[in-house]
Amino acid sequence: MSKTIIAGPCSVESREQLREVTATLANMPQVTLIRAGVWKPRTRPGGFEGLGEPALQWMQELTREYGVRYCCEVARPEHVELCRHYGVDTVWLGARTTANPFMVEEICEALKGSGMHVLVKNPVCPDVRLWLGAIERVREAGIAAVTAVHRGFSMYNNQGFRNAPLWEIPMELRHEMPDVPMLCDPSHIGGSRELIEPIALAAQMLDYDGLMVEVHPHPDDAWTDGNQQIAPNELTSLLDKYLNAPAPAADNLSQRLTPLRQQIDDIDHSLLTLLARRMALSSQIADIKRELHSPVYQSARWADILADRLQLAAALGLDADFTKEMLEKIHGESVRVQLES
Ligand code: PEP
Ligand code: MN
Repeated sequence: MSKTIIAGPCSVESREQLREVTATLANMPQVTLIRAGVWKPRTRPGGFEGLGEPALQWMQELTREYGVRYCCEVARPEHVELCRHYGVDTVWLGARTTANPFMVEEICEALKGSGMHVLVKNPVCPDVRLWLGAIERVREAGIAAVTAVHRGFSMYNNQGFRNAPLWEIPMELRHEMPDVPMLCDPSHIGGSRELIEPIALAAQMLDYDGLMVEVHPHPDDAWTDGNQQIAPNELTSLLDKYLNAPAPAADNLSQRLTPLRQQIDDIDHSLLTLLARRMALSSQIADIKRELHSPVYQSARWADILADRLQLAAALGLDADFTKEMLEKIHGESVRVQLES
């Protein structure tokens, strides 16, 4: 299936800047839509907050001149009205908006009957339910064309990214809503130019439906998100790689994957059987602790378990964060079983 490519500046800065980037992108047939921020949500006050209505007027003029289509972020119902007025028929809910159900509801009221195409970015926090909820609200407003955009999550430890990708969250969304196309926004995940390509190629391998990339005619002079915007020639080489990846060879693929997948199935079954045995032991332990008036949670024992398993995981070449998270889940469940048995 052909990929959706949305490209354009983080923000509209002037008529000339919008015209320059539009003239270049209009010549790239791979580009489906031009993105350009008109109202900019700033985490801290004092930054450039977008040009508002005049930027929409220029979009309308340039749409006529170049036959392109634009999209921009809406963060209030009035923004939707203005977009409709100036013929911008695709809008997106930003990460801060998706995290706020009250705001999503107000914007959805304005979207009713508009027939717009709505992109819903993931919420800033790693909560798939907020993302699902925003998409459901948009659909309940009668919007049929809804697309999800994965732009990463704001974490205490962003793992070297501007926003940690946490690929498992968009995967969960795709599992829950298989009919909603998923785009990757490598610009806001990466936060720096050199990370755009590896992130886009990861999205390629995960079979995303396309990209939303920040492209500026002169990235070093950009008023917002300068570090992560790429120049049009860099977009061309990114798209060469992203769009021309060799198609999977179906026959050979299943022949080679099937035996390995069988082993994975067997291992998963063994893991679950072992986990069930572990939980059964937890119930027996609960009985003894209750009889002897011993507390369910014993911090020294938990510290010993963690240290021992992390040492083994390191020797086995398993990732420490993954191991710790998995053990915390298992231990939490064991505590729950003991409290409830
Ligand atoms: C943007 O796309 O420029 C933007 C502000 O996005 P986000 O909501 O992902 O931070
Ligand atoms: Mn941006």
